[in-house]
Amino acid sequence: MLDPVRFIANLSTGEMGYAIACEARRRGFQVTLISGPTALLPPRGIRYVPIVTVADLDRALQKYFPKCDGLVMAAAVGDFIPVKQSIRKISRQKTWRVLFRQSPDLVQKYARKKGDRIVVGFALETGNWLSRSREKLRKKYLDGIVANYYSTRHNPFGKTQVHVALMDRTKTRLFRLPSKPAFARQMLNWVIALARARKYNR
Ligand code: C5P
Repeated sequence: MLDPVRFIANLSTGEMGYAIACEARRRGFQVTLISGPTALLPPRGIRYVPIVTVADLDRALQKYFPKCDGLVMAAAVGDFIPVKQSIRKISRQKTWRVLFRQSPDLVQKYARKKGDRIVVGFALETGNWLSRSREKLRKKYLDGIVANYYSTRHNPFGKTQVHVALMDRTKTRLFRLPSKPAFARQMLNWVIALARARKYNR
């Protein structure tokens, strides 16, 4: 929040996270959906944890991560937090300088101490999407990453086709699917395979 009525957001709609949560539920998993504000209805049969800020998400992860077998971080977490938040509405003025600081990397924080849990992240890039995503896979201690790109000809937000790469430690596979629910089915197969491989390799 910049002041009581203004905030910084991005184009994320929540469609992807909700589709993954619903698919996991359909397969019989106990699902907790931690969600920022969206225009979507909380899905039935799923524990729903509404949040707004990065600090709220951190608190929710602190509570639910120790109890889970897997974390899928589809959340479009803000990378920058305003250093100052005004308690009064900022009045109109010729220029307004806002200073931001980096937010904590939550998926990295929790993946670092994941134990036997599977942790999958997302990456959205506007250039060198495959190499940058592979670097995030490593840096954030992830088991897998869903690499996504944005360009003037490819907008991945909202109800759209899904053109992504699923990357794990050993391989990269490209997928083009007609919808986010269709992608969620493929993705869950992959996450389950990653969890099985982890179990057998121990
Ligand atoms: O570095 P970038 O923001 O592209 O990384 C995306 C991944 O990291 C996503 O899985 C997102 O949920 C997670 N993330 C996070 N905390 C942040 C920023 C991103 O957990 N502050």
